[in-house]
Amino acid sequence: MKLVHRLTLLAVAGFALTSPLDKPAPAKVSYDGYKVYRVSPSSDDDIDKAFDTAFIELHRRREEGGTWAVDIAVAPDDIAAFEAARYNVVSILSHDLGADFAAETVVSVSKTKKEGALPGLEWFDAYHPYADHVKYWADLHAAFPDNSELIVAGTSFEGRPVQGIHLWGRSGKDSKPAIFFNGNVHAREWITSMVRYILVLYVPLDVLRGVVEYILYQIVTGYGSDELVQKVLDNYDFYVLPVVNPDGFVYTQTTNRLWRKNRQTRSNTAAVGTDINRNWAVGWGGDGSSPNPSSETFSGFAPHDTPETAALAAFTQKLRDLHGIKLYVDWHSYAQTILLSYGYTCTDFPPNYDEQYDLAEGIAKAIAKPYNTTFEYGSGCLVLYQSSGNGRDYVTDVGKAQFGWGIELRDTQYGFVLPPEQILPSGIEIWEGLKYAWSRF
Ligand SMILES: [Zn+2]
Repeated sequence: MKLVHRLTLLAVAGFALTSPLDKPAPAKVSYDGYKVYRVSPSSDDDIDKAFDTAFIELHRRREEGGTWAVDIAVAPDDIAAFEAARYNVVSILSHDLGADFAAETVVSVSKTKKEGALPGLEWFDAYHPYADHVKYWADLHAAFPDNSELIVAGTSFEGRPVQGIHLWGRSGKDSKPAIFFNGNVHAREWITSMVRYILVLYVPLDVLRGVVEYILYQIVTGYGSDELVQKVLDNYDFYVLPVVNPDGFVYTQTTNRLWRKNRQTRSNTAAVGTDINRNWAVGWGGDGSSPNPSSETFSGFAPHDTPETAALAAFTQKLRDLHGIKLYVDWHSYAQTILLSYGYTCTDFPPNYDEQYDLAEGIAKAIAKPYNTTFEYGSGCLVLYQSSGNGRDYVTDVGKAQFGWGIELRDTQYGFVLPPEQILPSGIEIWEGLKYAWSRF
């Protein structure tokens, strides 16, 4: 009985015991000697030509004037051919991607940290293994037990829980409209889950302090710097799923740092992985997604045919039916952009687009305050690129969210290998932006 109980606890905490997950991981994919170029193709033809090759597209964005900036990684054996092709190279972002990855340490805190204690701000000085993240959510809950619970939205393809934390204020749980965040849908975008934590960390700590200030407020009226946090948590239930693609995230740490999709296998193809953020039902299968299982933007063969998207869609409907969704943010990197709906079309806009644009403008201004970091904002299709079957469009149309967004975090230079010393600043500037949102909610 005792053993069963212990196993249950472990399962809730997300530790896989014996499962296919314990199979030894294949050898790590090497990116030694890969160069990363930023190119500015002069036409759509040039983009297609570049991506018919073996080069790895890391990122693309639409620039002012309609040209594109596309970041691609080129293997050592292909560099001569790439340079001979005379693409319009704007800059070289990395001379050795493998060396960048080698320098990007993943620090485990599980052995040094006191059991049950919440890590301090040093948590944000490094990236961490997945098991430490799972533990951290449990520690957050333990530090804020009366106003939080651990939640599981579903199960990944390889059997990991899609899990996170739910926070609420004085009215009790599930009593207010939702603020719903998810991160790391794209496995290699490590900063997204890290920034999630800084928000989750700040909320309970600020609220705890806010309680003290509330008492002080009764004595000395007019002051309370955490009033905003108190207000937002009293008026909204926060549902935060920091890593909604756990299989992909683990795979980036064990095997291939540049992995983006989930780890789903399918019959009749050797290709692995579906882009969870092209698998949602709204706009599914349109431009900006691919029917080809080998593509980085493979949409799946039908909407919600990945277990992760199916779980998130069901979770969205649950929150919609409970008290509605005020704000949804799907956190990505890297582009420094606030993406409003829609992504699947550049010509249609949600009915409250002006209101959304206005809020995004204020948030971008607030984000710029601490470090002058520039965030662009607008319809995702217009400011970044067309993407069909994405989460924010679904949460907007089916989830009826007032603000159904994606936010692409830092940076525009280091890309997915964001130096750890930028984790904390990234969290701080985003928190400034969100405080602006709270002030308007
Ligand atoms: Zn992404």
